[in-house]
Amino acid sequence: MVNYRYLGNSGLKISEITYGNWLTHGSQVENDVASACVRAALDAGITTFDTADVYANTAAEQVLGDALKGERRESLEIFTKVYWPTGPKGPNDTGLSRKHIMESINGSLKRLDTDYVDLYQAHRFDVETPLEETMQAFADVVRQGKALYIGVSEWTADQIRDGAALAKELGFQLISSQPQYSMLWRVIEDEVVPASIETGVSQIVWSPMAQGVLSGKYLPGQPAPAGSRATDEKGGAQTISRFMNDETLTAVQNLKPVADELGLSMAQLSVAWVLQNDNVAAALVGASRPEQVAENVKASGVTIPAELMKQIDAALEDVVVR
Ligand code: NDP
Repeated sequence: MVNYRYLGNSGLKISEITYGNWLTHGSQVENDVASACVRAALDAGITTFDTADVYANTAAEQVLGDALKGERRESLEIFTKVYWPTGPKGPNDTGLSRKHIMESINGSLKRLDTDYVDLYQAHRFDVETPLEETMQAFADVVRQGKALYIGVSEWTADQIRDGAALAKELGFQLISSQPQYSMLWRVIEDEVVPASIETGVSQIVWSPMAQGVLSGKYLPGQPAPAGSRATDEKGGAQTISRFMNDETLTAVQNLKPVADELGLSMAQLSVAWVLQNDNVAAALVGASRPEQVAENVKASGVTIPAELMKQIDAALEDVVVR
């Protein structure tokens, strides 16, 4: 079963393996497969689910809401997000203005078919709206009981510091940051993590498997396996392309002996690796089939000895983005 960790300086416990539905629900996979993945997550002890209003143009929230129907609400932590920079329909259908936050939360709650979300996250930082206005709107969303906690995603260290300070002034806490983090993408280590520790914020990290690349299933010079994200023309193939080069795929194959030594699959190793960082509250893992969920969840509770952590660093030295 899955271990739990506290999110930031709050009393909220979340499953350290969290299920996310970007690119899959409402897009790459049919709804029955989406439901089967959610069922597999619940059966494995995952209680925390992450989505966003923008995923599959709002369909992902609906699919997740349908898949969770009938579950005891108190046994779930449901996270969603507001504000994606591209593709607005009208001038106010974007950003972190009071208007967009208040309208977006209502739409998300309706699609998710719930009275509240446990965590409401600013998907990106909005440079055009005063941060005071954004944080006041979040404070009101919390007071209205529509969201229990507030988080951010891909904010810089300074943005997290400023947001956390304002939240404190307004009587609530900023408890989470959702950045990309994996063995291949370590950008947060130098600034975001120290700022987060300072302000009582945890990381919920996305693409811990580098979108499937760290599972080792993509081999240099060979076509991607049928049905994998790299073959998904609805969006996946494009988003994964940053990792799909021979140098990276060759380096990733060097992780196989490390995984073997720990008795793990490479997919499990990649998820366990992000969880070695104490500031990480959860690895936010996606899945296109239920068997992947059952496999990935076994990364919970794994300790990677320091010697093997060094071996991982050496194997990836030339391809890591910092
Ligand atoms: P991962 O790195 O975990 O990639 C998941 C994908 O890898 C799956 O959909 C599947 O794709 C493949 N996979 C999973 N398990 C295995 C396995 N055991 N063996 C082989 N392949 C496997 O994360 P995602 O990129 O999906 O992101 C996870 C979540 O993070 C999202 O759902 C979303 O909630 C969040 N996110 C947040 C962002 C933000 O800006 N805040 C941005 C992006 C994501 P396939 O089978 O199709 O190859």
